[in-house]
Amino acid sequence: MCIFCKIVNGEIPSYKVYEDDDILAFLDISQVTKGHTIVIPKKHVTNILDTDKETYLKVVDKVYDLANKIAKNLNASGVNILHNANEVAGQSVNHLHFHIIPRYSKDDSIKISFEDSEKQDMDQVLKQIKGE
Ligand code: 5GP
Ligand code: ZN
Repeated sequence: MCIFCKIVNGEIPSYKVYEDDDILAFLDISQVTKGHTIVIPKKHVTNILDTDKETYLKVVDKVYDLANKIAKNLNASGVNILHNANEVAGQSVNHLHFHIIPRYSKDDSIKISFEDSEKQDMDQVLKQIKGE
């Protein structure tokens, strides 16, 4: 059983931010910033690339509510919403989850950088995405 399923079952304790029949939100143990929260479906599914849309959208719907509530009540100036899908993208727990990371300053201990890489043939990329 995965770590997050154990949290759902109460085998591992957590600080619960929100709970209903389908969704659980709890404080991330790492607290990258104050209030860093994980939102998951109680059902074990892996990530956006391997999940039914209904389950995914239920989680996203709650992420919307909680991100706004957390940012407001913790007086955050902004928020990062992060969903890592598969190891290559940084997923370490293979149970679908969103990070809600409230931001207080540009110097918070989180680094997200977009750097230049090889140039792409945009027409070709578009064709591939559209399946042409
Ligand atoms: P990922 O890297 O898969 O996107 O994020 C997994 C997150 O789960 C990490 O930020 C990590 O701190 C958090 N995490 C891992 N184990 C536990 C745990 O037992 N309890 C809590 N609350 N968070 C956990
Ligand atoms: Zn699980």
